[in-house]
Amino acid sequence: MTMEQQSGNNGKLGSVSNPLRVAVFGAGPAGFYAVEELLKQDGHTVSVDLFDRLPTPYGLVRGGVAPDHQKIKAVIKQYEKTAARPGFRFFGNVTFGEALALEDVLAHYHQVLFTTGAESDRRMGIPGEDLPGSSPATIFVGWYNGHPDYRELKFDLSTVERVAVIGNGNVAMDVTRILARSVDELAKTDIADYALAALRRSTVKEIYLLGRRGPAQAAFTNPEIRELTELAGVDLVVRPEDLELDAVNREFLALHASEQTHQRNVDILTAQIPKGAGTQPRKIHARFFVSPVEVLGRGRVEGLRLEKNHLVKDETGVFKAQGTGVYEEISCQLVFRSIGYKGHQLPGVPFDERNGIVPNRDGRVIDPATNHPVPRVYVAGWIKRGPSGVIGTNKLDAAATVQAMREDAEQAPVFNGLSPDLNAIPALLAQRQVRAVTFEDWKRIDRIEVEAGKKRGKPREKLTTLAELLAAAN
Ligand code: NAP
Repeated sequence: MTMEQQSGNNGKLGSVSNPLRVAVFGAGPAGFYAVEELLKQDGHTVSVDLFDRLPTPYGLVRGGVAPDHQKIKAVIKQYEKTAARPGFRFFGNVTFGEALALEDVLAHYHQVLFTTGAESDRRMGIPGEDLPGSSPATIFVGWYNGHPDYRELKFDLSTVERVAVIGNGNVAMDVTRILARSVDELAKTDIADYALAALRRSTVKEIYLLGRRGPAQAAFTNPEIRELTELAGVDLVVRPEDLELDAVNREFLALHASEQTHQRNVDILTAQIPKGAGTQPRKIHARFFVSPVEVLGRGRVEGLRLEKNHLVKDETGVFKAQGTGVYEEISCQLVFRSIGYKGHQLPGVPFDERNGIVPNRDGRVIDPATNHPVPRVYVAGWIKRGPSGVIGTNKLDAAATVQAMREDAEQAPVFNGLSPDLNAIPALLAQRQVRAVTFEDWKRIDRIEVEAGKKRGKPREKLTTLAELLAAAN
């Protein structure tokens, strides 16, 4: 018997009379791109319920993209078009594994797709990492972006002169820029009000941006490092010796010549050398070839112990930082480690702890015990491939998973007990006293935020607690 017959519907699965029912968990970019792919297929009718644990959609576009990068947030317009497609429903404030378990979802949908991203951070595994004043960049990002999970945190910048940001990715760039940028500029963004107030009191003068490898290997992209050279009141200070490329670095650049990003990053940084320490009141010290080996301090962060590195190419051809046994200490009162995000385990779904992703082939979740796909369960975005690429990278990634979903749906696997009634999930959530936020509710929140922003010359003033968000939804 096929799924179509067992679900008690007439017509082929994916027809108008018997749409494919899909649940997507995670309303960030990967979720929205997947929904778009699912809903735009010709001759294949799909109805999609998009869930998010927050009452608000858009994931990292709302809670991760830096507030001074408003242009990037324009992708929301595309997601709004997706949300307007027939067959789309949004259920915010619904946590997978709490409000709904995997068996609930599999009982009501033909397929389930997880696009839950990578919500936790990687650890350095060095002494002092958990001292007060040392935290993952991810929570600082969530804090200044008004994410309900982090809005209660306190970052007192009024007693801090020096901050160390560990890592050379674009998140490190964001954090460094937010700490360095003038408050008057930030005041025109959708930064959380309490974060703006804390930054107004900031006494931060020096920010150390620490890369374990060199400028040629840095993970940041050209516009992001260039932006640091253009900030008002800020000097980006580099050490000439970090830009003197040895044979291994030259080999790296030659091997990566087709990706111009690396050479351009080197050029942008080299152009800073003549400026020396500069004359501006705030300094960003971009330091390369250093690994933190200990966060120093009695009771709270007072500094960092760094080991000087040099670049080596190992036997497998990987260019790595290798310690030289030469150490130095820098003084700082805050440390943000920005060394990559990591996915969370989803209850009942296989998880690859080491890589922080759900094991999968082309988006089909794989059970490691059998090495076979888990029927009807899929992943896309960072939880599928790890935290890499820009927002747009998730488009192709999601399309590939949706392709696999469609192929599988056409094979119509045998399945018992499906209840694809559209009212069943809202009824189940109501029975469990979950106040699900619809897309119309979200638009209400959106209007209230935009209105409040207008009064302050900001694109929006975010509501940052669950209570405020739910009150606005009501
Ligand atoms: P990322 O790009 O992977 O960068 C991680 C950085 O941490 C690398 O410099 C890495 O150095 C370093 N690192 C890793 N382990 C370390 C350790 N133990 N000690 C010291 N350094 C260590 O990660 P991300 O910055 O979190 O960004 C995630 C993704 O989001 C990226 O694709 C990024 O481009 C994207 N993003 C884009 C934007 C934007 O477009 N404006 C903004 C934010 C984020 P190695 O290279 O030596 O491993």
